[in-house]
Amino acid sequence: MSDHLHFLESPRRDPEPMSIPVRVRNWNEIYGQYEAEGAADQSARCINCGNPYCEWECPVHNFIPDWLRLIKQGRLFEAAELSHQTNSLPEVCGRICPQDRLCEGACTLNDGLGAVTIGSIEKYITDEAVRQGWRPDMSRVVATDKRVAVIGAGPAGLGAADILVRNGVEAHVFDRYTRIGGLLTYGIPPFKLDKQVVETRREIMEGMGVQFHLGVEIGRDKTLPELLDEYDAVFTGMGTYRYVRGNLPGEDLEGVIESLPFLIGNVNRVLKEPASQFPYRDLRGKRVVVLGGGDTAMDCVRTSIRQGAHSVTCAYRRDEENMPGSRREVKNAREEGVEFLFNRQPVEILGEESAEGVRVVRTELGEPDDRGRRRPVPVPGSEEVLPADAVIIAFGFQPNPPSWLVEAGVETHDGCRLKVGGGSGRAEFQTSHPRIFAGGDMVRGSDLVVTAVFEGREAAKSLLKSLGIETVSAARAA
Ligand code: FAD
Ligand code: SF4
Repeated sequence: MSDHLHFLESPRRDPEPMSIPVRVRNWNEIYGQYEAEGAADQSARCINCGNPYCEWECPVHNFIPDWLRLIKQGRLFEAAELSHQTNSLPEVCGRICPQDRLCEGACTLNDGLGAVTIGSIEKYITDEAVRQGWRPDMSRVVATDKRVAVIGAGPAGLGAADILVRNGVEAHVFDRYTRIGGLLTYGIPPFKLDKQVVETRREIMEGMGVQFHLGVEIGRDKTLPELLDEYDAVFTGMGTYRYVRGNLPGEDLEGVIESLPFLIGNVNRVLKEPASQFPYRDLRGKRVVVLGGGDTAMDCVRTSIRQGAHSVTCAYRRDEENMPGSRREVKNAREEGVEFLFNRQPVEILGEESAEGVRVVRTELGEPDDRGRRRPVPVPGSEEVLPADAVIIAFGFQPNPPSWLVEAGVETHDGCRLKVGGGSGRAEFQTSHPRIFAGGDMVRGSDLVVTAVFEGREAAKSLLKSLGIETVSAARAA
């Protein structure tokens, strides 16, 4: 059979997941890893269709068919080098991108034949190359005399720092936490992303010359004017952390929990970190109701299951088709024992002193809102009560830029997202302060790791241009 028809004899095969009874009793990542042979076999399924929609749907525009070909040919280190030309965190994106909506959703074989396992192969490339000793090739970097401060060691800040050091600029990354990663470390649970993966990335970036200053909060331990004095420019990627309330009666009752503090308290306990401002909330034996339908809600339901909750129910106001969370995570949650109630809108949290239940009303989908999503419309007389000892609110987050950034002249959209680029002679990702650039969730609002990486990288290129530095462009494989 011709090489191009390999996909017919070799079906899509994902790395083996851990069995369900085992995975719900520990915090480890649930998916295994390919062997070299398996990775080559799955890479060979790519038909090199000539019009790689996968690359266009991938927010960082990875050279996907090129690194699949290199893996098919056993050229692991070249694949790793190539994959790092376009993505600063390929092993992270390979694990937690919603591939079904991005690269794999656009794969030509996704039409009933099984998309190429792009995410798992991307993860394999970096994990295995690093394990065998590969490190990014920095031999052609020419040092400049420029220094840039990066605020925030999340995906956006790391993407920016990667581009800066690859172009000979000193990158100093400041973060208020003692570990890098932002939400990768203090948010996303370890069964989706092992924290050692982020630690390994730190070692790689330090080896490339990135200098981390951790446990330093800008605005408290060091000021923005100090950074502007000491550095040629500043990139800011501080994320989005303002909790969105439901404004439901009963939301202040004991037993009503905010999602992110719950997840961080749990991660700290798994990492055996000292007690912090985020205490551990123990849901063992409790009836848990999670309100929301995004990735954060999925992480809360699956964390509650692993803590030993008596039952876990997720109530979401639209239908399954319109859920913002990744399909893969919904499937995993369902397999692990989570009950989903779609088309249910919370009306009130019931209880005397602590939560005892949630009153919800059924909904039907009405006309689209201004973002094109159909509005949930309550059905009169359809109310019911879901019994609960703990209610987790996972309605998302809004950017909350600190006052010192606004005082420095950085403009925002109504006090939330930072304004960047677009008209008034501003460069891409440049804020209204000419020496401050920004990207990631604080510019886009809550989104994805891969879009934050993309914005950090693009903002750094724009910043370099403002300093008169020509950037090295990514090149495909020979
Ligand atoms: P962040 O990751 O929030 O990083 C910002 C950093 O800035 C933090 O480290 C913070 O400590 C630091 N900082 C803030 N203020 C200061 C200051 N004053 N001084 C110093 N440091 C400061 N995306 C996916 O693609 N897949 C998923 O499965 C997924 N799951 C998610 C699950 C949860 C629970 C959440 C909350 C988000 C999830 N996301 C997921 C979204 C993704 O994590 C974010 O879009 C991404 O992390 C945004 O990157 P960022 O760099 O903009 O911000
Ligand atoms: Fe797919 Fe995300 Fe990797 Fe792009 S970065 S190829 S969207 S998994």
